[in-house]
This record gives sequence, structure tokens and C-alpha cells, in this order.
Amino acid sequence: MHINDAVFLEDLCPKFRFRQWRKSIHRFTGKSCIYCGKPSESIDHVIPRSQGGLSTTENCVPACLSCNGDKSDENALYWYRRQKFYDPRRAMAIRAWLEGDLRLAIRLLQWANPNFKEKNKNYIKDQSEYKAA
Ligand SMILES: [Zn+2]
Repeated sequence: MHINDAVFLEDLCPKFRFRQWRKSIHRFTGKSCIYCGKPSESIDHVIPRSQGGLSTTENCVPACLSCNGDKSDENALYWYRRQKFYDPRRAMAIRAWLEGDLRLAIRLLQWANPNFKEKNKNYIKDQSEYKAA
């Protein structure tokens, strides 16, 4: 993947950018639902659009269809607290994600799920000065 080409294409074609954006959201979590860890099949708004939530990366998380459908129009943090698969580390990850700290969110998700496969190393490298120890 040539990152420079992608940026160029994105500028030319908003639809392409949207698709890339959706893909990158799923890639952050290794294509797993941020709530339960199952394969993510959809993008969920943490704060629903009906409550003024925006379609920004901070407010959009990868979710399986089951969680997305069950949560419906609720605020994800309230909804998530009532779930059987509730995990405080994931709750923290969702909060970090909302605050735009994707690096922290991803690390918390890795902690919650030891099988988590990091598929976004390059992105993280590009986005910050974080250096692996
Ligand atoms: Zn789920």
C-alpha cells in the first residue's frame, strides 16, 4: 500500500476517502467489536446521531451487528455497563477512543484481549512519536 498515493486519491474522491476511513476504523481493533470482541461488521456511533453524535473517528467505533443493533439509540457507555460481557478495560478503551486517544484505546483493547492482532502499526507510527520500548 502506497500511503502517498492513498492520500492523493482521497483528495480526489470523497467516496474513496469514506471507504478508507471505514476500513481504518476496523483496522484499529483488528476487525473486532470494541464492545464484545467478536468480528466487527459495522461502525457504531458511541454517542448516537439522534443525541448529536458526529460521524467522526472519535465517535465511531467498530462493532458487531449484534452490539450495534442491541445498543440502538443509547449512549454506548451507559449501554455497555449493563452488558454481560462488560469489561472495565474495554470501557476505558471506549472512553479513550471518544477522547480521540486512539493509541491508548488500542492498548487497552490489547490488554483486554490477549489475542488482539495489531494491524495498524504503521498508522500508529505515522500518527505519533510513540516509540516501542
Ligand atoms: Zn459486539
